Amino acid sequence: MSDPIMPRLGAAERTYDPPMASEAATQAQAQPATEQVFTLRDVMVAYAGVPAVRSIDLDVEANRITALIGPSGCGKSTVLRCLNRMNDLVADAEVSGRILYHDQDIYAPEVDPVEVRKLVGMVFQKPNPFPKSIYDNIAFGPRVLGMKGEMDEIVERALRRAALWDEVKDRLKQSAYGMSGGQQQRLCIARALATDPDVILMDEPCSALDPISTARIEDLLLELRSRYAIVIVTHNMQQAARVSDRTAFFTVELDEDEKHRTGRIVEFDATEKIFQNPADPRTEAYVTGKVG
Ligand code: ADP
Repeated sequence: MSDPIMPRLGAAERTYDPPMASEAATQAQAQPATEQVFTLRDVMVAYAGVPAVRSIDLDVEANRITALIGPSGCGKSTVLRCLNRMNDLVADAEVSGRILYHDQDIYAPEVDPVEVRKLVGMVFQKPNPFPKSIYDNIAFGPRVLGMKGEMDEIVERALRRAALWDEVKDRLKQSAYGMSGGQQQRLCIARALATDPDVILMDEPCSALDPISTARIEDLLLELRSRYAIVIVTHNMQQAARVSDRTAFFTVELDEDEKHRTGRIVEFDATEKIFQNPADPRTEAYVTGKVG
């Protein structure tokens, strides 16, 4: 059974053919709903005053993989970055609407974005290890955050959870740059896990990887699902169908003022439904490869 995902922010811690949904995804969908980790309502993000996405409603559940799919530029990464306040780091980005982590508004003035990023880890498109040893890559976050506990154990646990321990246990002091691309990406996943988050955000984590490394990451995601909520942006529809439980399909359309094009979610549902029997013709056109 998985660790319970507790609301840890706030008082206590203020310190062609449509791809088939995988059997694993289908089984997960048959399970009862789990705890809701994120609730987004009417979220809008603008860059330099120009809206990039609007009217975003999204629910993220514990022990589920939620995929964000849709054509390039429709705002998937923008929405992902809202979930750990990474848009704060983008000059001129402005976020409005409600983004609740459990019951806590993560954009409330008293919330420290560093705390949010500890609980909501992120893995990027290209593996980006630090120019440090494998060990120090993992230990970096826990050290910065002053996490309690034996560092060797923290490092080992994170590497085991990222299915990397057996491959690197004899060379922990060697540079992370000596690892293959797939290993580096699993190292980055381990680094995100080391601060003991509840949620892992992944922005096209396999797009720089070969098919074998991609398959290993996909297997890993299905393992990690038992402990974390995972949100993944992917341009690979087969990947969304293989690993995710729920899928949000985004599109970008001309606003009513006919001046701006803005990203929106067209449909958000069980992955199997999105790929096999979507409610909206725009979703169907996309997943069958007719557009996009
Ligand atoms: P996707 O992930 O679906 O490809 P993005 O979230 O990257 O889409 O982009 C959505 C829209 O926001 C695009 O029009 C993009 O040009 C714009 N955008 C994204 N990031 C920035 C930024 N840092 N500054 C200005 N505009 C941005």
